[in-house]
Formats: sequence, C-alpha cells, structure tokens
Amino acid sequence: MNTQQKLEILADAAKYDASCASSGATRAGNGKGVGHTDGTGICHSYTPDGRCVSLLKILLTNFCTYDCVFCVNRASSDIRRARFTVEEVVSLTLDFYKRNYIEGLFLSSGIIQSPDYTMEQLIQVARSLRLTHHFGGYIHVKAIPGCSGSLIETAGLYADRLSANIELPTQQDLVQLAPEKRSVVIETTMHQIHSRKTEMDEDRRRIRSTPKFAPAGQSTQMVVGATDTTDHEIIHRAASLYSSYRLRRIYYTGFSPYPQADRRLPLAATPLVREHRLYQADWLLRYYGFQAGEITTPDAPDLDLSVDPKTLWARRHPEAFPIDVNAAPRETLLRVPGLGYRNVDRILAIRRYHRLTLEDLRRLRVSVKSISPWIVTADYLPHPSLPPQQPPLQQLSLNLEADPGTISSTLDGQL
Ligand code: SF4
Repeated sequence: MNTQQKLEILADAAKYDASCASSGATRAGNGKGVGHTDGTGICHSYTPDGRCVSLLKILLTNFCTYDCVFCVNRASSDIRRARFTVEEVVSLTLDFYKRNYIEGLFLSSGIIQSPDYTMEQLIQVARSLRLTHHFGGYIHVKAIPGCSGSLIETAGLYADRLSANIELPTQQDLVQLAPEKRSVVIETTMHQIHSRKTEMDEDRRRIRSTPKFAPAGQSTQMVVGATDTTDHEIIHRAASLYSSYRLRRIYYTGFSPYPQADRRLPLAATPLVREHRLYQADWLLRYYGFQAGEITTPDAPDLDLSVDPKTLWARRHPEAFPIDVNAAPRETLLRVPGLGYRNVDRILAIRRYHRLTLEDLRRLRVSVKSISPWIVTADYLPHPSLPPQQPPLQQLSLNLEADPGTISSTLDGQL
C-alpha cells in the first residue's frame, strides 16, 4: 500500500474525531525552521457541515485492539486497515505545510499493542517534526488514556494541544458501549496533563527559559446520542470536567449510525440541532456565568430543540426581567436572550458616556425584535402584557473547529 492509499484510509478514519481546533497557541517561527501557528498564509477549508479541515487530520493507524461499539475502527469492524510509519506522517505534514494546504497536524491513533506503545509512536512523530525538522506549525496529539505519566510529560513538550477523549458521558455508557475503557483511567490522563501544565506554567512564570507545555491546553470529545443519557447528565459532566481539568474545549459529536452497526446502538442519527444546543449550553457555562443546574432540571432533563437554552431560562424566570441595559451589572446583562458577551462589554463601555437607546443597540447589530421583550432602555419599556417572543430557529452549521474567536462570535450572536 502506498502513502496515498494509506492517507485515504487514515484521513477518512480520523474524520469522526472532532476534538481538534487549530487555534489557541502562538508559536513564532524562529527563521530557521518552517511554519508558525499564527500570521498569514494559513489555508482553511470547510466541509459542507462546517467543519474546518485546515489541519492534516489523520490516524497513525486504524488498527485497534479495543472494541468500542460506536467506533468504526473497533477491532471487530470489517474495514480496510492501514498504518503509517513515523517518517510517512512527518513527510506528509511537511509536504502539505509547505504547499500551504494545512496549518498543522492533528494526530490520533487506534490503540496498538498497548497505550504506552501507541503514545510512544505519536510522540516520535511530534518529536521528529519539532527537533529534526524545526516545524513551528500547530500540532495536536491525542493522549492515549492509560499511558504512563512520563509519556504525557514528553508529549506536552512537542504538542500545542493534547486531548484525551472522554468518549461517552458516563461510566455506565462506557460499560455499555466501550467495555475496555474506564472513566477513571481517562480522567487520570486528563489529570496528568492538567497538573503537568500547571506545574510547568508556574515554573515558566519564575524562569522564562522553562519550555512551554501544551500551550493550547487540553480538550476532549464526547459522543452524544449513542445512549439515552440525558442532556442534564451531559451538561453536569461537562461542568465537572471543565472545573477539574481546566479544559479548553469539549467537543460534542452527535452519534451517526453506520452500516451493520451493533444492535445496542440507535438506528437514527442524533439530530444536529441537539449538538448545537449542547454547544450553546456549553457556552452558557463558560462565558455567561450559568451553573449546570440552571440550564436543565431533573424534571426537564433534555434541552428544548426548538429554543436556545438561554431563552428557555429567561422564560422560566420572568421575575428576572425586564433588565435595564443602562443600570444592570455585567452578570445580569449576560442573562438577556439575544445579547452576546461581546455586546455586553460594548454596552458597558458605551453607557459610561450616555444612556443607551434601542437605536444604539441596533448599531451594535443586536436584534432589537428578539431582545425588546427582555430589556428596558432610555427610550423603551416593554409592555407588561407582551409575551416573550419566540426567536427564529438558529442556523445550525457551526464551524466547530475554527478559532475560538470565530466560534464565539457565532454563538455570541446567537445567545
Ligand atoms: S480505542 Fe478509540 S479507535 Fe479504538 S475502538 Fe475505541 S474509540 Fe475506536
């Protein structure tokens, strides 16, 4: 099998892993090697569903000794298999980078022999790119759960981002669909990344020559909809992962069925709108000061697919509205449906000089029609009998791997 044939198989096998983003790190080129993670010349392309493919996103191999039911690469799956050598991945990355096809590498792998062996192979690729070829572009390496802590420590020296996939929201889900995986093992790997990064960042504050460890932090991916775990459990799980391991992102991937799938799996794909609502809920946790318990409740454990979670919260709490945009503190303004955090900051800056009117909000490109039932401005008071308006169903094609800035501005405008 030649490299091109391997690339077809292993790039296709990697497309199910959404846990990569090409941003969040700055690595300036030193003039001797090739590439850097910011600046011009970066070529982005997007698949029809909005996913960015500007990274060379591949598996080292799709052979896997594990048999996770939801995964096409599982041991029992009847698919074409391939395995790259370390040199092949290095040369493909450099070749694509120089042609400006990619801005970096996202490298994952099926588990071969053992977690340690697999992790060593991934590290060899990153090490060769950084040390032998002085590659300054972005590298995202999958951390194989269960590998030794010393390998994680080494990987973080070469990779911009590490990610250990949580795979499924709960331990029960793993027992059901990925029996060889355990939450505690995955979280131990996350903990190792987090504690090593904290340690190295502290050292770096004192001694500038301390090398950076995974400067773009860690992320994870969670497949949703493969079991009947509720959004309530998913959001609580996400909140706990964010607070325990300072994750930069959690990527939610709706389960999509494949031919001759195991009977334990659902027949229908998870609606894209559910993925979208989970991302909105995730944004509320991280940027809008919401607690997990405010987004869903045990009585209504799933997100409403017809309305965004912030609007739903507002409808459940009419006593909190209307909110005076000229007087309310930041945390209160963040609760207004249709008002993103960037616009909240703009409002806070503008109101130091004059009292805002509806026209000022229009100039900030806020949808006055959506926001007006929830606010008071210098020239407007909502009619007490007006019911909160139903916002239009949001556009669903999110660019899940774009810069956080791009994604945040997309979601920012929608929340
Ligand atoms: S370990 Fe990863 S690649 Fe292997 S079957 Fe499970 S999810 Fe798929």
